[in-house]
Amino acid sequence: MITDQNPGWHLRHKYQDLPDIFYSSVGPTEVAQSKIVLFNETLAEELGLDDTLLRQLPDIFTGNQLPDESKPIAQAYAGHQFASFTMLGDGRAVLLGEQQADDGRLYDIQLKGAGRTPYSRGGDGRAALGPMLREYLISESMHGLGVPTSRGLAVATTGEKVYREEVLPGAVLTRVADSHIRVGTFQYARQWGSKQDLQALADYTIDRHYPEIAEDENKYLSFLHKVAERQAALIAKWQLVGFIHGVMNTDNVAISGQTIDYGPCAFMDRYDRQTVFSSIDLERRYAYGNQPEIGAWNMARFAESLLILIDEEEEKALPQAKEVIQNYLSLVESYWLDGMRAKLGIVDKTDEDKVLIERLLNLMEQHRADFTNTFRALTLLQFDPASRLFQAKAFQTWFQEWQSKLALQSMTVTEAYQLMKQHNPSVIPRNYLVEKVLDEAVSNNDYQPLYDLLAVMQNPYAYTEMQEAYAADPPDEAYQTFCGT
Ligand code: AMP
Ligand code: MG
Repeated sequence: MITDQNPGWHLRHKYQDLPDIFYSSVGPTEVAQSKIVLFNETLAEELGLDDTLLRQLPDIFTGNQLPDESKPIAQAYAGHQFASFTMLGDGRAVLLGEQQADDGRLYDIQLKGAGRTPYSRGGDGRAALGPMLREYLISESMHGLGVPTSRGLAVATTGEKVYREEVLPGAVLTRVADSHIRVGTFQYARQWGSKQDLQALADYTIDRHYPEIAEDENKYLSFLHKVAERQAALIAKWQLVGFIHGVMNTDNVAISGQTIDYGPCAFMDRYDRQTVFSSIDLERRYAYGNQPEIGAWNMARFAESLLILIDEEEEKALPQAKEVIQNYLSLVESYWLDGMRAKLGIVDKTDEDKVLIERLLNLMEQHRADFTNTFRALTLLQFDPASRLFQAKAFQTWFQEWQSKLALQSMTVTEAYQLMKQHNPSVIPRNYLVEKVLDEAVSNNDYQPLYDLLAVMQNPYAYTEMQEAYAADPPDEAYQTFCGT
């Protein structure tokens, strides 16, 4: 019930039914002064929260005040970071609880940047304003683009400074996710817990995210199948919008199939499979073109953690798990192919589609064409005469073949272009736009440009003047991102 005292919190703490190795009870550390700078009204409503009341409670969004029912914890997990295994855990985040929305579903409510926890190691437990605004903006953009993702409910400044290479204003992001259970949570259980602990975690996660397999004969094998399937679908979606996560470490892979942990992520401009933005990814491990294979690698780590549940005898478990992993890349490809067909308005599937698609992508790569804007041009049939790609003879040949294909389909050409509009965003949060609006907010305390970009990114598949203003090709300059710690 919503009252002056309670804006609609229905916090549950089912994660705390797990054995206590999985978390530490710890609350947020008080900050100097709370001020909300971003607030997500739509999401508040979806969560059954009264947005007007909540806006008047900035202390909730820094952790200075806790919702009555909250029992904050930091979650324990491990992970392979750039392939090396280590103990991690929420070093700067606390989970207030699981909000039960009107539809009965549970959503983790987490404060990121809320202070030190037992898992902080040398870190200060804090977050800087810029990276928290960035996570909010990019995750909301991903949501707008139709990609499963954690979301931002609010960003609040703390009135305190954080010390990185420079002195920066501090902030807390209130993050909402289907859960924060990661591949790394299972690796942690396998490495440091008992078989009972691991099983408890698997049962909890199945109940929360995959209840449909609870009665399966080998539900842990089904679990592996389901998680691999959702991850494959997710990564195919990243590829289709040109999203580069940047830190696909196993601790950043959510079992729910949502995108989580936005650090040095960015959207690709020019189509180039080698694209990496993260300044620390020197070996290009997490390059755009590598994401499907890294996804398979991460699923293999997940499978390893589950082996003893799949079968007591490893010789029996292994081939079954291997089969899932070996299938993973073709699964990503089939989701990706379907998505690419839709981007080109193709509904009558044939075996030749893949070749047609790859020919286009190769031409784009060769002529340094912008990924989003090439599909935008094909959707609108508006071709910039200055574009090297569109002038190329090989492109014109490709274009004629594609047009003939569209003309012969069971769907009309007009319908095909409608379909394309639904699958080709007319805007993405371009790196230079993101930097500009964040700089206005952080350096000049002017949030309007950020609000405007957020509003546009709520409808990235619309083709109106509003999107047009953000759709130009970006300036051709090198871009780098930094891990947002
Ligand atoms: P990430 O790169 O954000 O996935 O974080 C990797 C690990 O470092 C996680 O265990 C984080 O909780 C931890 N971490 C990142 N930043 C901080 C910080 N400022 N203080 C404490 N722990 C942190
Ligand atoms: Mg992480």
